[in-house]
Amino acid sequence: MFDSNLKVWYNGKIVPWSDATLHAASHVVHYGSSIFEGIRAYTTSDGPAIFRLQDHLDRFYTGAKIYGMEIPFGSEVLREACFELLRVNDLSSAYIRPVVFRGLKALGIDPTACPVEAFVLAWEWGPYLGETALQDGVDVCVSSWRRMAPDTLPAMAKAGGHYTNSQLMKMEALTNGYHEGIALDSSGLISEGPGQNIFVVYRDTLLTPPMSAAILPGLTRDSILQLAEHLRIPYRLENLPREMLYAAREVFFAGTAVEITPIRSVDRKPVGDGKPGPITRKLQNMFFDVVHGRVAEFSGWLERPVSHGARLEAAAAS
Ligand code: PMP
Repeated sequence: MFDSNLKVWYNGKIVPWSDATLHAASHVVHYGSSIFEGIRAYTTSDGPAIFRLQDHLDRFYTGAKIYGMEIPFGSEVLREACFELLRVNDLSSAYIRPVVFRGLKALGIDPTACPVEAFVLAWEWGPYLGETALQDGVDVCVSSWRRMAPDTLPAMAKAGGHYTNSQLMKMEALTNGYHEGIALDSSGLISEGPGQNIFVVYRDTLLTPPMSAAILPGLTRDSILQLAEHLRIPYRLENLPREMLYAAREVFFAGTAVEITPIRSVDRKPVGDGKPGPITRKLQNMFFDVVHGRVAEFSGWLERPVSHGARLEAAAAS
C-alpha cells in the first residue's frame, strides 16, 4: 500500500516520506484531535482527475469549524497540494488523504493552545474491501456498537477521534468472520458502516438513512442520489429499521474507499438471492463510467488543476 519513495505535503512543503512525522507529545496522538478527508483521483482519457475535490474540501473545512480548528491554509492551497502530490508521486489514480491536527504545545485536554498543522498524503489504493468485493459483494453483520448519539459527537465532522467507534465495529466484524459491520444509531435505526454509507432497495425504491441517523454526509451517497435521479430510479431518504436489511432485495455500501460495494448477506441471511442486484449494478456501472470521465453530464465532478495558461489569464483579469 505504501511506498517509502512517496512524497508527502507537510505544512506547505513537499517532504520525503521519512520526514512526514510528528512529536509523541502532539495533542492529536493522545486525544484524536484531527479532521481528515478521503478523496479519490481516477484515470480519465484526459489524465488523472480528482472526484468532487471541492466538495470534499468544503466538508473538511466544515468539520474543522465544528471543532473550532482554524486551518492555517486556504482551500485553494490544499487543492493545489492534492494535484501537486499526484504530479510529484507520478500517480495516475490515487487515494488522497488531507489531515489537519492539533500539534505540539500542551497536553491538557483543552486543544486551543496547540498549533493546527496539516499533511496531505496520496498513494495508489485499489478496492478497499478486496478485489472481489466490487464484483461479488461482501458479507456483513449488524454491529453491537452503536453510532454516536447526536448530542455526543458531531457526525457531520470527519474527525479522527470518531473513528475509535469505527475501529470497534470493524474489529468485531472481522473477529466474527464478516467483511464489515453496520451500526444502528442511538435510537436503534440503521445508521452507516464504519467508513461508508448504506443503501437498500425495497420494492424498487432506493432508500438511505437521513442525516439525523448519525451519518457522515457522504459524497458518494450524494452522487448516488443524483445518479438515481438521472436514471429515474425512485429514491427516498428515510429512517430504516434493522429488519429492512433482511427484507430488502438489494443492499450496498457507498463511500470513497468502498465506492459502490454490493452486500450479499447480512447476519448470514442472503440479501435477495445472494448476488448483487440490478439496481446496485446499474448504479455501480454508471458510477464507474462517471468517475472515469465517460459521462458528459457529470464531467463537472471531475476536477483538474487549473492550467498554467488559465492561471495567467485569471491573474491578468484580476
Ligand atoms: N461514513 C463514514 C463514517 C465515512 O468515514 C465515510 C468515508 N468518508 C463515509 C460515510 C462516506 O463518505 P464519502 O462518500 O464522502 O467518502
